[in-house]
Amino acid sequence: MARDITRRDFLDGARIALTGAALSGSVAPWLACAGNDASGATASALSATPGASGPYPPALSGLRGSVEGSYEVAHALVAGRRFERAGSATGESYDLVVVGAGLSGLAAAYLYRRARPDARVLLLENHDDFGGHARRNEFRVGDVFRLGYGGTQSIDTPSNYSPDALALLRELGIDVARFHRAFDSTLYPALGMSEGVFFAREDFGVDRLVAGYGELPWPEFAARTPLAAAARADLARLHADERDYLPGLSPAEKTALLERISYAEFLREHARVHPQVVQLYRRFWISYFGVGADSFPAAWIAREPALPGLQGTHHIPGYVDEPYIFHFPDGNASIARLLVRALIPAAIPGHTMDDVVLARADYTQLDRAEQPARLRLNSTVVDVRHGDGQRSVEVAYVRDGRVESVSARHCVLACWNGAIPYLCSELPAEQKRGLAWAVKTPLVYVSALLRNWRAFQRLGVHAVWAPGSFYDAVMLDFPVTLGGYAASRSPDRPMVVHMAHVPYHPEEKGPEQWRAGRRALLTTTFAHFEAQVRDQLDRTLAPAGFASEDELLALTVNRWPHGYAREPNTLWDADWRDAETPPWELGRRRHGRIAIANCDAGASAYTDAAIDEAQRAVGELLEHG
Ligand SMILES: Cc1cc2nc3c(=O)[nH]c(=O)nc-3n(C[C@H](O)[C@H](O)[C@H](O)COP(=O)(O)OP(=O)(O)OC[C@H]3O[C@@H](n4cnc5c(N)ncnc54)[C@H](O)[C@@H]3O)c2cc1C
Repeated sequence: MARDITRRDFLDGARIALTGAALSGSVAPWLACAGNDASGATASALSATPGASGPYPPALSGLRGSVEGSYEVAHALVAGRRFERAGSATGESYDLVVVGAGLSGLAAAYLYRRARPDARVLLLENHDDFGGHARRNEFRVGDVFRLGYGGTQSIDTPSNYSPDALALLRELGIDVARFHRAFDSTLYPALGMSEGVFFAREDFGVDRLVAGYGELPWPEFAARTPLAAAARADLARLHADERDYLPGLSPAEKTALLERISYAEFLREHARVHPQVVQLYRRFWISYFGVGADSFPAAWIAREPALPGLQGTHHIPGYVDEPYIFHFPDGNASIARLLVRALIPAAIPGHTMDDVVLARADYTQLDRAEQPARLRLNSTVVDVRHGDGQRSVEVAYVRDGRVESVSARHCVLACWNGAIPYLCSELPAEQKRGLAWAVKTPLVYVSALLRNWRAFQRLGVHAVWAPGSFYDAVMLDFPVTLGGYAASRSPDRPMVVHMAHVPYHPEEKGPEQWRAGRRALLTTTFAHFEAQVRDQLDRTLAPAGFASEDELLALTVNRWPHGYAREPNTLWDADWRDAETPPWELGRRRHGRIAIANCDAGASAYTDAAIDEAQRAVGELLEHG
């Protein structure tokens, strides 16, 4: 699949990367006569929000996410480098210092100040933007403004959120019921668009896009695929059949078996489908599962029927089926921005979940001495230890190549568990082992701005699953209209297309595949990501005459070598239900004045976990006094 990186690709990469940044405020000739068809926010709507000078990270394109400059200090720390503290004291002293300004760190700062309104709080973050994975991508071309999400996509199944997490959303002004109106579930179906599958020639001998996945009767869908006749029959059977592939086993025995075998093994050995069907589902939705079908237990599908085959065999209760509509135009970056607004009102104007969508953040306001809450970007924490006879926590970080340190009464480590043993050496060895368990899944979220989406409409697809391609998912943006921001409703108008990539290393077992993937992501150039975007869009949309050369306007590649939090996987892990203390519980123990938040601490890659863990960590510190 991978095309050689040529000089042209490299130049294209450079051009595209620059385009996104340079486009801000410029007028592209093709847009100069654009009408006002409600396809995007207008420049005047945006300029209604107070302007701001200084850096504005959401508008940067090219390679984003964990960019160069954000991780080198942490990697040096892991490699054994020590950072000298002498002379580093800034003289600053806080009630709370939070390491990591993702959703968990921001929530921790907010909850601490809610309990102690006079508290002075500092957040330290190694990236050039706040929100952690909850990242906002902006594109502006002439009078058209488009938003995308660089990570944390949606409020997934809010009915499953804890009362505390829901209460926090409500306090921020988020009424999740609002999305039932904001999300237009009819837009794409009304245009005859459904989900499709792209069969790539590398796996299936020919490139072919087949629309109607989940819409057409399965035999009809299967008949349109390039699969062998026997595989087509098996694909239709796998979806439509209600047969029990584990006859004679009790429900408990089925659960036990399905937790021990992979979904791929279930397909091969029990559903006994043609190898091409296994091939089809090998990497299907890998950007959701984080691993291929050979590395997650079939029990996951018995619980959440995201993939076919177990519907007649076994169902494990617990999964809540709620529409996937709880999406701000910039994903959960809006939650991060609402938290920042609550902490530092001067940084983000406005008062509601609606007006935050178009509010322009003023990054110059984040770190002002006169404010009770401060947020310091580009600051990698390298050392956290108790001082002053256990009466304080001393936090050292590297900013602009210099070591600085601050003092605090309390500290919440809301950064990644895997990093904590390196920056807090005084933790007990057993706790460090628990923290080290949390190897994160690497992944990439691409926001590609296209001139229009006519090709998608012509081919009848709004989302394409591409299990044999570099990007396993290609999706038109969620049709959300909120707070003056309008979804792109006309196929003739610009659209942000989301694409996701997870490195696939089946030769490695367990979390080793994520370590291999992380190395791969850190050495993959923007030019290569771009070449893959072009190649995949050109091939997928070829029957509609699509040419990325003409259609691709700007590209933001959000790279997350440390992505999803690790969740227990019964194929590799002990059965934690029987274990005394699972590793993530060992890892998150309060240590004196230091508590541990972030969603790694809950072994759950979701926003509610990030909030719940913040609530727990802050509660522990306040109780401790
Ligand atoms: C691509 C992607 C898509 C996702 N989609 C969803 C979704 O749709 N719904 C959902 O609920 N969840 C989703 N998630 C899960 C997401 O991780 C959580 O929802 C949540 O955003 C995590 O917040 P956090 O604060 O725990 O971690 P993070 O967002 O990772 O924040 C931790 C922060 O700590 C910083 N940090 C680390 N080390 C240091 C240091 N030494 N010094 C200073 N700062 C440091 C990190 O850079 C980071 O910014 C997604 C995750 C990814 C990667």
